[in-house]
Amino acid sequence: MKFYSLNHQAPNVSFQEAVVNGIAPDRGLYFPESISALPVDFFQNIENYSNNEIAYELIKQFVGDKIPEKELKEIIEDTLSFDFPLVEVEKDIFSLELFHGPTMAFKDVGARFMARCLSYFNKNKTTELTVLVATSGDTGGAVASGFLGVKGVQVVILYPSGKVSKVQEKQLTTLGQNIKALEVTGTFDDCQDMVKTAFLDHEITDKMQLTSANSINVARWLPQMFYFAFAYKQLKNNSKEVVFSIPSGNFGNICAGMMAQQLGLPIYHFIAATNVNRVVPNFMQTGNYIPLKSIQTISNAMDVGNPSNFIRIQNIFNNDFEKIKEHLSSYSFTDEETKETILSIFKNSNYITDPHGAVGYLGLKKYLKNDSDKQGVFFETAHPVKFLDVIEPVIDKKIDFPEQIKQVINKKKEASLIDSYKQLKEFLLK
Ligand SMILES: *Cc1c(COP(=O)(O)O)cnc(C)c1O
Repeated sequence: MKFYSLNHQAPNVSFQEAVVNGIAPDRGLYFPESISALPVDFFQNIENYSNNEIAYELIKQFVGDKIPEKELKEIIEDTLSFDFPLVEVEKDIFSLELFHGPTMAFKDVGARFMARCLSYFNKNKTTELTVLVATSGDTGGAVASGFLGVKGVQVVILYPSGKVSKVQEKQLTTLGQNIKALEVTGTFDDCQDMVKTAFLDHEITDKMQLTSANSINVARWLPQMFYFAFAYKQLKNNSKEVVFSIPSGNFGNICAGMMAQQLGLPIYHFIAATNVNRVVPNFMQTGNYIPLKSIQTISNAMDVGNPSNFIRIQNIFNNDFEKIKEHLSSYSFTDEETKETILSIFKNSNYITDPHGAVGYLGLKKYLKNDSDKQGVFFETAHPVKFLDVIEPVIDKKIDFPEQIKQVINKKKEASLIDSYKQLKEFLLK
């Protein structure tokens, strides 16, 4: 299996090269050359497979022969060492809880899978690899935890000062070892721009090997297919078609769901639920994709003004707007609506959602208003404790710290403050 660049100006590469490069030399995102659907009876009998077996079946064609079967199965087992519960919040509305991993956000799976692949590829190498990543909140922590102590890999994380939650900041600034945090005076888009510039800067790339760990990296992106299959497995016997609502920022998660659908997973419809950063909802109304400056919200992991993975979605559907509309709806919600929803779900169902999950729930409800014979899943992408400052005043209740959070919350933050690309460059080259 080879991957090509969506800018079509770079050589096709193996899974290994796609993971190590992160992004193609022509700045395009990598995309698999072919997608072969799995046998129909695999999905018909999916309840007979364990999560690890399902994950292996979904990902094996993309990894190809770059990781042998035995090692790939070990990587999967190690990656998926926690639960993915599906909770019925109200009739036919389910929360898929993706926050039971070490940093309590769904990005743990992609980050752990990618770290283990890189560690496998790096086994016999003497050269160091630097993972350079921009975070709007959760990526940083997941990448820090996933890569902690991985030999031959240095991790540099850029995050926007004052724009991530306290728990998120602790998770990415307190681990030490091979993990370094840079606090940027600016927005997430500024962080992402600096990272992109560094990848293009030969004075840096001649001296060190850089890779990304954002969802542009295929090893972070593709494992997110698993969630959709894990949920489907549990809902299949209800005999209603399944709609997924994904709180979306960079659109990696939802795009992975569309890949799972290409593999044959029966998904009736996708909803991309966003906060007021509404580039995609606008696109779905007008057919024009116009990047906007990102706006700060309480669901900060989705404060993205130019979602990097949307181009992959367009590619899956051959840039056919009508076809995209057939499979995807997208709605935008304000912070006010999000808070009201956190409170109403808590009051009506005694269930606490985080701001991202609440946006997902809102998207699902809006869609199901017109199509009520379906069952719906919204992704609960982070544990509410990661957004304490928002949630506690809304529901007027204290949230207990889970074990994963207790371990970092009192540790000392270590980060270097930077405010320009020049400073990032000096940091990398020193
Ligand atoms: C990253 C993140 C999202 C957005 O996911 P994308 O794949 O970038 O669309 C949503 N919720 C939480 C909690 C996140 O950390």
